Amino acid sequence: MLGQMQNQPLLISSLITHAERHHGSTEIVSRRVEGDIHRSTWGQIARRSRQVANALDGLHLAHGERVATLAWNGYRHLELYFGVSGTGRVLHTLNPRLHPEQLAWIVNHADDRALCFDMSFLPLVQTVHAKCPGVRHWVALCDSDKLPTDSGIPGLVSYEAWIGGQSATCVWPDLDENSASSMCYTSGTTGNPKAALYSHRSTLLHAYGAALPDALGCSARDSILPVVPMFHVNAWGLPYSAAAVGCKLVFPGPALDGKSVYELIESEKVSMAAGVPTVWQMLLGHMQQNGLKFSTLKRTVIGGSACPPAMINAFNQTYGVEVLHAWGMTEMSPLGTVCTLKNAQLALSADEQLKVRLKQGRAVYGVDMKIVDESGNELPWDGKAYGDLLVRGPWIIASYFKGEGGDPMRYDASGKGWFPTGDVATIDADGFMQITDRSKDVIKSGGEWISSIDVENIAMAHPAVAMAACIGMRHPKWDERPIVVVVKKPGTEVSRDELLAFYEGKIAKWQVPDDVVFVDAIPLGATGKMQKMTLRQQLKDYVLPGV
Ligand code: AMP
Repeated sequence: MLGQMQNQPLLISSLITHAERHHGSTEIVSRRVEGDIHRSTWGQIARRSRQVANALDGLHLAHGERVATLAWNGYRHLELYFGVSGTGRVLHTLNPRLHPEQLAWIVNHADDRALCFDMSFLPLVQTVHAKCPGVRHWVALCDSDKLPTDSGIPGLVSYEAWIGGQSATCVWPDLDENSASSMCYTSGTTGNPKAALYSHRSTLLHAYGAALPDALGCSARDSILPVVPMFHVNAWGLPYSAAAVGCKLVFPGPALDGKSVYELIESEKVSMAAGVPTVWQMLLGHMQQNGLKFSTLKRTVIGGSACPPAMINAFNQTYGVEVLHAWGMTEMSPLGTVCTLKNAQLALSADEQLKVRLKQGRAVYGVDMKIVDESGNELPWDGKAYGDLLVRGPWIIASYFKGEGGDPMRYDASGKGWFPTGDVATIDADGFMQITDRSKDVIKSGGEWISSIDVENIAMAHPAVAMAACIGMRHPKWDERPIVVVVKKPGTEVSRDELLAFYEGKIAKWQVPDDVVFVDAIPLGATGKMQKMTLRQQLKDYVLPGV
């Protein structure tokens, strides 16, 4: 017997329709590329996203065709999120930090038909446009009077002129909820990038899951600042969750330095912010130097790479801000786990709580996870056994765009497919998962694994250390031994021996790195993650002491 409930498809257009109807006057504030602050509302975003819909129809783009963006976080980008996906086209958010050659490769691989870009990326577009013959429409996200006359880009139009003459009414099409809605290429370190192709259904289920109180906890009373870019897994889905709950959104535009982010948090009464550790490091540095405090910020979501304990402590103890350590990946839309404490853990001491908060957290409902050994046998949830982390759920990919890389899934005895995350993790009896490493970064010394994250976290707790990367170096006896590569904070000093002594009593002796290498900078990838492959190449002539 079938249930007798209304069978409405889960569509992205329903999010903006809801936000307009129930939260039409709630503000959307953006720092623009021009540097000024722009104020809009959910109502205006909805109206303009319908103008985008009509403008796209005018270009005769078929359902499923890709519309790319090369843009910072801002109101026009948000309008494209709804206008493009709402009409059945696929929003393809490009990462402007990629090398131009790689960017052109991705645009061509995705078969992008239109590309909308912020004016700060005009030089980049001028470099790549001739290499992207499939793109028929170029739109500059600016007012018509800001459009350069001599851009060299054929048919370039300004966004405001493009949508300006369009009607603000449209009937959003009734799509199949499994239709593709947006796509994002992974920051994969080997081979060509691969794309995750999200659907309306996966996006909406993720929006529900992410907004839950024990996940990102979004509400109409919040003012949320996604510092995480809208080109990095849809800003962790926050634009969609925000529309579902009707909260205020605050967009930082291109200004991600500590001063600009701090000022925006204070002036827009931000209650929750989300970003990668490198951004928070800049913010905390600015606050420490200037003796500043937060007056409204309550929570900050930190993910994308492991959050060092020193950062959790600084937010918690110095500034009274709760850190939500979160883990996920492009292939997971991206949310997998969030570290929010359970009731019984509230009675723990601050030190014991910190140990829990360091973990990547509990699975958001919708995500199932397990850890397995090399033969695929499930390992116990005892907080000690570590193995490959596998996941499954309705917002996790089943295959990559164009079937690239073949079938990525691993199948269990019952035939269920699990996506291998490439992370190595433990899970404790309360269900808190902790990443020990990317599987390719794990250091194997004398047959035992050393977690590079543990080694980095200890170095990061030293007051003179700004950034630390632990990598394994070939060793004739132990196979591999860890070294730690360190960037010092400006104006501070620490010697190799002092830093190695700092490890005493914090981890087992054999896990202490063999050496410290001081560098001016650690290479970061397009999404702010440390690029250990590049670092290893840079240190290819390095020899361990005594070898
Ligand atoms: P991406 O698809 O570029 O977002 O990268 C996903 C990968 O980033 C994951 O598989 C993890 O290796 C890493 N990652 C994301 N969040 C965390 C976190 N909180 N702690 C440690 N690693 C993380």
